[in-house]
Formats: sequence, structure tokens, C-alpha cells
Amino acid sequence: MLKCPNCQSKDIGKIGINQFYCWNCFIELSLSKGVINTHQVEEDGTLSSLDDLFEENERRYLS
Ligand SMILES: [Zn+2]
Repeated sequence: MLKCPNCQSKDIGKIGINQFYCWNCFIELSLSKGVINTHQVEEDGTLSSLDDLFEENERRYLS
């Protein structure tokens, strides 16, 4: 089960192939090679990466 690396919520919605959205803290998550990449959607609709905020082991996706 996917868990948000930012808020630890499991309230994750699927928005595309390997793309997810956290309904708790409103960030976008994408899965690539077993690692969760995190993005924040800015007001103008662009995505900025939040990956710098997390250690790699926090972003690892364990199925
Ligand atoms: Zn979250």
C-alpha cells in the first residue's frame, strides 16, 4: 500500500499510470523504479519537485 512520504497518509488516489495524489497534503506522487517521486502543484499548474525534502529511504516504495 502506498503511503505519502510527506504526511504518512494512506489516503492516496490514483490519477494515472504510476501517478498518485495525496488527498491529505495535496501533493502528487509518481512511482519510478521502486522510488516515490514527490511533486507539489503550484498555483500556476506547474509541478515542482519535493524530493529534496526526503531521504531516499523515505521515498522507497515497499510493496
Ligand atoms: Zn501526503
